[in-house]
Amino acid sequence: MIHGYNPPERFLPYLSWTEIAALPDREHTVIVLPTGSTEQHGPHLPCAVDTVICAGVVGHALARLPKEVRAYALPPVTYGKSEEHLHFPGTITLDGETLLATMVQIGESVYRSGFRRLLIVNGHGGQPQVMEIAARELRLRHGDFIVVPQHTWRLPHVAGRYMSEREKKLAMHAGHAETAIMLALAPDTVHMERAVANYPPEFPSKLLSPDGRPACAWTARDFGSSGVIGDPLPATLEQGVAILESLATSWAQAITELHALHWPARAEATWGKSQHTGHIEGAPG
Ligand SMILES: [Zn+2]
Repeated sequence: MIHGYNPPERFLPYLSWTEIAALPDREHTVIVLPTGSTEQHGPHLPCAVDTVICAGVVGHALARLPKEVRAYALPPVTYGKSEEHLHFPGTITLDGETLLATMVQIGESVYRSGFRRLLIVNGHGGQPQVMEIAARELRLRHGDFIVVPQHTWRLPHVAGRYMSEREKKLAMHAGHAETAIMLALAPDTVHMERAVANYPPEFPSKLLSPDGRPACAWTARDFGSSGVIGDPLPATLEQGVAILESLATSWAQAITELHALHWPARAEATWGKSQHTGHIEGAPG
């Protein structure tokens, strides 16, 4: 079956439409959408990394939720906006417009199904902007829809305990943290004997980039031929298990908080109704 890392009882497509229609309190139920990519992650990791990590973290988070927290996962979005990696075979990318339309249409479908809370767990660093635009579009269309787009790695985790200062500063892709958590989630796909380290140069302008990270648009091949941007060599399974545990705990907490959240529904615009007199005050009549 296709529930992946999710507990089957929390995988929405395993329910029939009649079961979904009969779910109690759909308004507070959290629908979780892992959104990854299919893109190169160096010679030692599979192209599925971003999808495996966001779907794996979501599944492990859902597994530790208490029963009273109503939440279901959708199947992951496995294609993203990966154009910065398209020079490497195996990268299957959408353009930004297609991904934006996909996210909005999935959100519309979630809303139409009676749900009012959508949590987008984005696993790919090249597309948070698209997730934010999609979330705002859905909010504009539906004033009672709470859509939270968030990056998988943005919540508290323990990866920093194991990483060098240089790795924390400059690693962006297929480095220490991603490699370690992949050893925990999909060990058969990780080939440490092929792992290589590769860092980008520090950006020379402190005004444009106070932390030294590339401040210009980049593609992965700008920094070398391996596709790696970071150092995966110190990664171990034990670290990966600890990182996964910490992320799953944080995401379970986040889902619990979103389930309980009270957030104002859109207020009806009163200005137009009470004040509208045919012309805008102060404006030329
Ligand atoms: Zn990645």
